[in-house]
Amino acid sequence: MAAEIQPKPQTRTPVLLNKIEASQDVVNTAVIIPKEDGVISVSEDRTIRIWLKRDSGQYWPSIYHTMPGESSPLMSYWAIPRQQEWKCLVSLIVLAILTLELHWEEECLISHQGRVTVVLFVLEMEWVLSTGQDKNFTWHCSESGTQLGLYRTTAWVSGLQFDVETRHAFVGDYSGQVTILKLELDSCSLVTTFKGHTGNVTALCWDPVQRVLFSGSADHSIIMWDIGGGKGTAIELQGHNEKVQGLCYAPHTRQLISCSSDGGIVIWNMDVTRQETPEWLDSDSCQKCEQPFFWNFKQMWDSKKIGLRQHHCRKCGQAVCGKCSAKRSTIPLMGFEFEVRVCDSCHESITDEDRAPTATFHDSKHSIVYMHYEPTMGWLLTSGADKVVKLWDMTPVVS
Ligand SMILES: [Zn+2]
Ligand SMILES: [Zn+2]
Repeated sequence: MAAEIQPKPQTRTPVLLNKIEASQDVVNTAVIIPKEDGVISVSEDRTIRIWLKRDSGQYWPSIYHTMPGESSPLMSYWAIPRQQEWKCLVSLIVLAILTLELHWEEECLISHQGRVTVVLFVLEMEWVLSTGQDKNFTWHCSESGTQLGLYRTTAWVSGLQFDVETRHAFVGDYSGQVTILKLELDSCSLVTTFKGHTGNVTALCWDPVQRVLFSGSADHSIIMWDIGGGKGTAIELQGHNEKVQGLCYAPHTRQLISCSSDGGIVIWNMDVTRQETPEWLDSDSCQKCEQPFFWNFKQMWDSKKIGLRQHHCRKCGQAVCGKCSAKRSTIPLMGFEFEVRVCDSCHESITDEDRAPTATFHDSKHSIVYMHYEPTMGWLLTSGADKVVKLWDMTPVVS
């Protein structure tokens, strides 16, 4: 019998660089300002703060502003390095920040009935995409503030991504569905919907180079949808024990960073050929020992056998009884980084090499509500339910 492989303790881990603990409330969205040693945060208490690192090594809020309105703000940000200008879009308001002078201007742009759930600025199109609790998905011109189009979603939207080249919007919602819309200037058409999660979609991440979409869910799983492949391939990634809260992709190393509400950070190597999980087969009897399952009363009566409980091998998808699937194994290339049920013959076929993990697992030691990765510095920001923002050097693990 092959030895059980236990996850090896990680020798290379993210390095905690700093903590920002002075927030009065939970930070909903935050962004690292590259090269400025600064962080912009918006929090539940409707404040927007710009934290700059002082000589003491601590981050202090150099600027502080309370947003009007009732609901807590969200932020979309973009950098125009050429002009040395930083801009943020905070819920309904456009905010321009000149990094060194920290000057801003406000302008009311969009309104939703109820809370805004996601906001996304597309610099190339000068479009602002937004969704709210009113189930309206709208896109506006960021210059004029004119509403260009509207689409009614079936459920609250919790994840939004956009592909500039093809003008496809990916919309993930509380029903667990991902909808693909093709946006025109003033209209849109429904391309397709993907249904793979059993819980609501909590995060979406689009890689425009490989043309894959990652969706994270409250069902603890991540699905990689191969949009560019055109074959509808969907690869599962099972590495979290709790609700997935954020997804970021590091394109230069082809690594996916995911985090969950239990504080787990997983770094997935996406530079490997992964396999789809099999469809679960249906059978009246175990597909290994042929003993009937308990709902097959006629066969049980005819053969005078007691029915067995049906299980499924995660590798071949066959319906098997407990006795024929007593062993467990990881199957990393199928996305199973934790041990799962496999049938005896599949267990024998899985080699130690097949069991080599394709992900590394880390503990942020706070319940993550939001995550942001800054690729040029290799820094990760995590915001926790503990009202603390942590800054991590990810270069030991994302390289
Ligand atoms: Zn059996
Ligand atoms: Zn099997």
